[in-house]
Amino acid sequence: MEKIDIIVIGGGIAGAATALGMVRRGGGKVVMFDEQLPSQRLSRGNFGLTWFMPKGANNPTYALWSRMATMHWPEFAAKLEEESGYDVELEWNGGAMHAIGEEQFNAYGESVKKMTDVCREVGLDYPVRMLDRDEFAAMIPSMRLGDEVSGAMYSAEQGHVNPLCLLGAMRYAFQKRGGVYHGGTSVSAITPKGNGTIELTTSKGKFVAEKLVVAAGHGSTRLLAELGEQLHIYPQRGQLIVTERVKKVLNFPILAVRQTMDGTFMIGLSTEDTAHDVQVTVEAMNSQAKGAIRLFPELADLNWVRGWGAIRVMTPDGSPIYEQLSEHPNIYVLAGHSAVSLAPVMEKQISDWILDRDIAPQISQFSNGRFNV
Ligand SMILES: Cc1cc2nc3c(=O)[nH]c(=O)nc-3n(C[C@H](O)[C@H](O)[C@H](O)COP(=O)(O)OP(=O)(O)OC[C@H]3O[C@@H](n4cnc5c(N)ncnc54)[C@H](O)[C@@H]3O)c2cc1C
Repeated sequence: MEKIDIIVIGGGIAGAATALGMVRRGGGKVVMFDEQLPSQRLSRGNFGLTWFMPKGANNPTYALWSRMATMHWPEFAAKLEEESGYDVELEWNGGAMHAIGEEQFNAYGESVKKMTDVCREVGLDYPVRMLDRDEFAAMIPSMRLGDEVSGAMYSAEQGHVNPLCLLGAMRYAFQKRGGVYHGGTSVSAITPKGNGTIELTTSKGKFVAEKLVVAAGHGSTRLLAELGEQLHIYPQRGQLIVTERVKKVLNFPILAVRQTMDGTFMIGLSTEDTAHDVQVTVEAMNSQAKGAIRLFPELADLNWVRGWGAIRVMTPDGSPIYEQLSEHPNIYVLAGHSAVSLAPVMEKQISDWILDRDIAPQISQFSNGRFNV
């Protein structure tokens, strides 16, 4: 049987970013399996924000981790584009969260103060500020704000990408660097062997590797349960709506409304506990549309052409899980939300960790075991 250094199960954003980082760092023969079920559209159907604001209010390590990731997004994207030839459509003009009414505006102001302190504790700046209604309106001169919009929380150091192009670019660059990608291939069992290797049973037969990275999103739960590991993730549905293409007028994304480079508006901020049901619902579409129109009334004049649901990989505290199994230290687990934003740290810090190079001190704070209480 052919010798493989590292196998990655899952070719979503987490698996692809990490696998790319490992081949770039000379991690040997790296093979990635992805079963590509139509229901698992998470890495293709997300909102595409590269965002840190206001993540980690109750967890300074996560605040630092998110900020570190977004700081590196522009150089991460430039290198990826050069290597793959893909345009990931990164727009780095900042991003905002609008407030409705005075109470929400004041609450956002408090959050900025708190997060500034949280980040200062870990030696980091927090480049976020409050914009009053006039300043916010002046930054979006081609759109009219709804009457109830009181202002926004804003950072110039975040943006958005095309998630589909991002995923394609990472998978392509991975293969260009010598990585092997088995799309449409399902892994059904992980068997640690006595000699320290790991055998995988897949729909293309058996494979053996020195190390294994399990980054299979919700598919990881079953694979790890068979090793006696309970992965602390749960499903949460989000629904998105897209409009017809119109002239590009929105120059930076707002948390629930962004305009893609081709002119489509995307709207979405729903969070629902629905197990693994990816259906869209009239209720969520309705409430999201109303929220978007409260922000920009002119969106009511556009045709809404499509909607879909995707299932987030959530953890109880919202921060990611990076675990090296204590019983099988050559098996690593990556899971959690915001993998688009975190792609640069997965490409660098997470791949360095798996390759036993630099170990970022934050990683130990994200163990799966932190939930074993
Ligand atoms: C509505 C919505 C909006 C979002 N917006 C943002 C955003 O703006 N910014 C942001 O940073 N994040 C956002 N996210 C989160 C982001 O999409 C996820 O964090 C990310 O896609 C997770 O990637 P992943 O690789 O961990 O998981 P997945 O994308 O689920 O990848 C896992 C892969 O493993 C494969 N797999 C599973 N089991 C097996 C098996 N047994 N064998 C082989 N392959 C297997 C699956 O087919 C899948 O392709 C959003 C999510 C949702 C739902």
